[in-house]
Amino acid sequence: MRASPVWHPFTQHAINPESILIDRAQGAYLYARNKDQGEAGQERQIIDAISSWWVITHGHCHPHIVKSVREQAAKLDQVIFAGFTHELAEKLATRMTALTAKSFGTPYDHAFFSDSGSTSVEVALKMAIGYWAHTSQSRSKIIALEDGYHGDTFGAMSVGSRSHYNAIYEPYLFEVEHLPVPESGKESRTLELLETYLNAHKNDVAAFIFEPLILGAGGMRTYSPQALKAMTELCRKHEVLLIADEVMTGFGRTGTMFACEQAGIMPDIMCLSKGITAGFLPMGLTLCSHDIFKAYYHKDRSKMFFHSSSFTGNALSCAAANASLDVWENEPVLKNVQTISASHKAITPKFAQHKNICNIRQAGTIIALDIMADKDGGADYLSNLQPRLYALALERNVLLRPLGNTLYVLPPYCVSNDDLKEIYATIERLAEQAAA
Ligand SMILES: *Cc1c(COP(=O)(O)O)cnc(C)c1O
Repeated sequence: MRASPVWHPFTQHAINPESILIDRAQGAYLYARNKDQGEAGQERQIIDAISSWWVITHGHCHPHIVKSVREQAAKLDQVIFAGFTHELAEKLATRMTALTAKSFGTPYDHAFFSDSGSTSVEVALKMAIGYWAHTSQSRSKIIALEDGYHGDTFGAMSVGSRSHYNAIYEPYLFEVEHLPVPESGKESRTLELLETYLNAHKNDVAAFIFEPLILGAGGMRTYSPQALKAMTELCRKHEVLLIADEVMTGFGRTGTMFACEQAGIMPDIMCLSKGITAGFLPMGLTLCSHDIFKAYYHKDRSKMFFHSSSFTGNALSCAAANASLDVWENEPVLKNVQTISASHKAITPKFAQHKNICNIRQAGTIIALDIMADKDGGADYLSNLQPRLYALALERNVLLRPLGNTLYVLPPYCVSNDDLKEIYATIERLAEQAAA
């Protein structure tokens, strides 16, 4: 019997009984300690090449965020958010208005707080469905992308990919029209399918939800800003609401503050989470246009937005988010983002030469590639590739968490050039070892 009562996410405890104990973190590094040696144990420094599941932006334990959260903790921890408000939530929502105005030319006038990426998506879907219910026409259909990932709650699973991850829950998921990802060369097929669907269901499509430019958990699959723009223009023609899930892409990941900027589109609803507090504390934020808010704004109490989570607008999370925006304003964050993007671009030809590497793609600070599995190895070899790559990278003290045979780098923006070099060298080594 295992010693720990903790049931970890996405973990098969029968195969992986041991988790690495992390003591502290700083910048781009995690520090592990040998459990058996106690305080006297040797520290092990691990490069966090995936930003601790995509949440860390400025680096772990940024001093300004630590200070802000510490001060807030002594002042106000948490307050009910219906009938009450607090300064840091007001300030954050106002700053998000200004930030989105800068990105899109027009601000999002309304911000709904929750506590994770999944809840920001649930809120967005409920907002959109309610919008139609409260205006003249009721619309029932939702469109999403195949292989999308929007979280692990039931609504988020419904709009996400129907893969083996949620096969046993499939009977409980609601119906969604899934379109193939408009990857390079496949754009026209997706656009045709979308147009056919929209024509066949005139005035009945409520919303289109998508991860802009890159599908994260679905395998870091990219598509062009032009394809995104073309899909959204078709939707606009049919007055379909646009929901951008920028939970992973928001806050600089793809090279711009928000990925949608690159397509020159402003969705009606935008979901944010991971990077909003710089990865310091949980928060979900769903931004929406005035038209959405207006549909609920009524003397009739039954038209209010019936949604909340206990920690809505948590004061410490708001302190972290405001402090993160300070860092964006006071430090050359976007320049670091560009440096990382340029570095990824520069290593691409070298990766491309490697005989076991294929399908290299990039979206700003994210670079992804596939390791070609040994053809003679068979299926067994393939299913063992992911854990092997993961373990081999960790042996070199680099945290990479492959998606199947896809390796990707998604670093904190404070990552050094030397660390990037070490990460790239690790990937090349893994490509060699994978074939062995
Ligand atoms: C991670 C992720 C989510 C879910 O966020 P959680 O905070 O894990 O609930 C939703 N959408 C996208 C695009 C994500 O990457």
